[in-house]
Amino acid sequence: MSESELPKAYEPGKIEKKWYDFWLKQGYFTPEIGQDKKPFVIIMPPTNVTGELHLGHALTATLEDIMVRWHRMNGESTLWLPGTDHAGIATQVVVERQLAEQGRTREGIGREQFTRLTWEWANKSRKNIRRQHQLLGASCDWAREKFTLDEGPSKAVRTAFVRLYDKGSIYRGERMINWCPRCQTALSDLEVEHKHIVGHLYYIRYPLTRRKGFVTVATTRPETFLGDTAVAVNPQDKRYEDLIGKSVSLPIIGKEIPVIADEAVDTSFGTGALKITPAHDPTDLEVAQRHNLPLVDTMNADATMNENAGPYQGLERFACRERVLADLKDAKLLEKIEPYSHSVGHCCRCQTMIEPRVSLQWFVRTQPLAKAAIEVVEQGRVAIIPERFTKVYFDWMENIRDWCISRQLWWGHRIPVWYCQDCAQVTASVDEPAVCIHCGSKQIIQDPDVLDTWFSSALWPHSTLGWPEDTDDLRRFYPGSIMETGYDILFFWVARMIMMGLEDTGEIPFRTVYLHGLIRDESGEKMSKLRGNVINPSEAISKYGVDALRFALTSGTSPGNDTNLGKSKLESGRNFVNKLWNASRFILQSLDAEKLESQAIELQPQRIEDRWIDSQLNRLIKSVTELMENFQFGEAEQQIYDFVWSKFCDWYIEIAKIRLRSQPIPSPLPFLANTLEKSLRLLHPFMPFVTEELWQSLKQYLPAQDQMAASIMMATYPVADDKAFAPEAERVMDSVIEIVRSIRNVRAQYNVKSSQWIEARVYAGELLSSLVTQANMIEILAKTRPLTLLDRQKKESTKDTDLVLVLKEAEVVVPLAGVVDRIAEEQRLIKESEEVKERMAQLEARLGDKAFLNRAPVQVVEKEKQKLAMLEDKLKRLNQELSQLKSSSSDS
Ligand SMILES: [Zn+2]
Ligand SMILES: [Zn+2]
Repeated sequence: MSESELPKAYEPGKIEKKWYDFWLKQGYFTPEIGQDKKPFVIIMPPTNVTGELHLGHALTATLEDIMVRWHRMNGESTLWLPGTDHAGIATQVVVERQLAEQGRTREGIGREQFTRLTWEWANKSRKNIRRQHQLLGASCDWAREKFTLDEGPSKAVRTAFVRLYDKGSIYRGERMINWCPRCQTALSDLEVEHKHIVGHLYYIRYPLTRRKGFVTVATTRPETFLGDTAVAVNPQDKRYEDLIGKSVSLPIIGKEIPVIADEAVDTSFGTGALKITPAHDPTDLEVAQRHNLPLVDTMNADATMNENAGPYQGLERFACRERVLADLKDAKLLEKIEPYSHSVGHCCRCQTMIEPRVSLQWFVRTQPLAKAAIEVVEQGRVAIIPERFTKVYFDWMENIRDWCISRQLWWGHRIPVWYCQDCAQVTASVDEPAVCIHCGSKQIIQDPDVLDTWFSSALWPHSTLGWPEDTDDLRRFYPGSIMETGYDILFFWVARMIMMGLEDTGEIPFRTVYLHGLIRDESGEKMSKLRGNVINPSEAISKYGVDALRFALTSGTSPGNDTNLGKSKLESGRNFVNKLWNASRFILQSLDAEKLESQAIELQPQRIEDRWIDSQLNRLIKSVTELMENFQFGEAEQQIYDFVWSKFCDWYIEIAKIRLRSQPIPSPLPFLANTLEKSLRLLHPFMPFVTEELWQSLKQYLPAQDQMAASIMMATYPVADDKAFAPEAERVMDSVIEIVRSIRNVRAQYNVKSSQWIEARVYAGELLSSLVTQANMIEILAKTRPLTLLDRQKKESTKDTDLVLVLKEAEVVVPLAGVVDRIAEEQRLIKESEEVKERMAQLEARLGDKAFLNRAPVQVVEKEKQKLAMLEDKLKRLNQELSQLKSSSSDS
């Protein structure tokens, strides 16, 4: 076995580990720092430390790796910084679930112990996440890996908070927030999932005070009536004119509340009279503020009823509803119940129904930050790809509300605020203060809450590079080049990074936002554990190899659009790797056999097909480069695939095989080697492992200047040579391919055996003399003999049995006399045997019919049996003839 001989089959597992370790050891992932080098920077979206990587992570890693490898091959100083996110509520819920399985609770073990357990979990996850990214081939700089809870990013969080606080852009206030009674924390609007619920509309009677009668109000949440502080009607509503300014009493508990008029009341909802429950509904709170109504909070943090709920104190909210309804019914105050479907918010982490709740929380005044963030996108300093998301971004940013950043959790960045027990003032500080800055008291207590996990993510582009310190990395690599992430977190994350980046550094955090779509299953359904259509990246890797998975994830995709992925796409990725592998094996074996030295690999195209493949290769390079520059990675990959599979493997290599068998001068080997080598480099960003393995084997045959790089990932990306474009050669080869294809189609259509030669006449015009030089190729590729190439002017008349194919540059005539006669005969035999079978079936049915057998005379039955035997005999003969016909046609 010679040195370059490749194993027969590609074994991804072995090769992937070998090369990844080699790249790591060589330090290729760490950017080269040079004054003259242009930096290319991607800060990887921090992966949540909640567990395994899913296909979405694999897509993120693959797309970023494609960009990073491509820029690195273009000679840029490339930094791809990896990291992980503590993922506040998401991680806390995971650890709480684990505790619950052991019958323990977070409160039971206490904050310190809980935080320690969560750190253990996070560290385990981080290791796992790193390992999985390495499996995917991610060429990120592990030496610069960051975690949101690391000392550096944590200091950035405290610094950003204190700066905003000192400016008055962070404030603490009583606001209505979304409250999850299970997680017992506030949630931002983005963390609430709205679901359609088929519920009921309850019509409740509120008795009038000081006279008979009642007002009926409609509500979806009867249990909240205990917190009502008014009934509101629209001032234009004639039905209730005389009630405005009067009062009603709350059912059951008899508390007196006013009837007020407010323009906001929708007269078409329910009865047009609304109960106002300011402590439990955001719209009611606004009404209450306009009318100076008091707030009555009737619930505890866990959504059980509190002392304000009178007789219902201690009941859980839904149990309370049942009791309230029963009591109202008994009192004849429940007028009717109607089915009613509406949208209800749920906690995005635990799916518990959200409770709107007025509570004391920390907020960021977002409007001024949003203004600057809108401007940089308007000015084009930050570009969003695909462009259609720019409008979505503007719409959201223009209507932005203050951001609730405090969370009643234990896992995260503790709010850097201390409350003084003596003067009741607040001290906000980056470092832990010893005393109250206002009165010097030592009696200070830190806020128990932590910050929204997205607060630290919002600082990620600068906190990872060392901000607030003035570091070399910050000066060199900030702002980043591209922020690549899913379109689903445009607001959670991308918008906030732009706001906080501008706020903290005065500079945009990145120049381009690249948004990818979601991964769906083969039929376009969302992947979910419930549907059982989830593909696990690790399993896909062990079954198909990393390169096949990367191909399946990205090939043919475009930014912002969802991708369908299933078995067939993974298989086609694997088939492509195998095709490339087999083609390379053939080329390497041929190079060995010819004992070709690297200095002999010189491209002197003498033959049409050599000029053609070189021209096509350079056109591909040109197109791929343009596509890569325009972020059309999926299309670039698809074009390389088409070129390698069809033009190179199916045509050029097949032609080269014919030449190598007969007259090896001029040899196609230099073109085989050159086309393969450039194709490998073109493909490397997409399929890093198989390309490295093949390139290393091919390297020894390359001209000296191309042997310099120790790895394909450090070699330069191919550059198109316009001088190689050869339109004439392309025209001839297009015609050759068309002729071969048309004859192959005829063969397939008429079931001509692969061993059988068929005759063909080709009539051509201008291209005739060029086509004559390719006659030998056409003959062998189309299995056509005799093949005659003639001037179109001299075309003879054709027979009925001649098949005439009119092509772009030529006309192909295939005399089908023999083939057609055989086909007609075959059809006749098939038809006749079908008729025989039908008659046999009728006879068999009759002979199986007991009534007939009992009734008919014996000789009649006997006659029928004879008929059947004769037919059986005939069918046997017909089948024999048919098989003879088939075998004779394949022998000829
Ligand atoms: Zn929850
Ligand atoms: Zn004080």
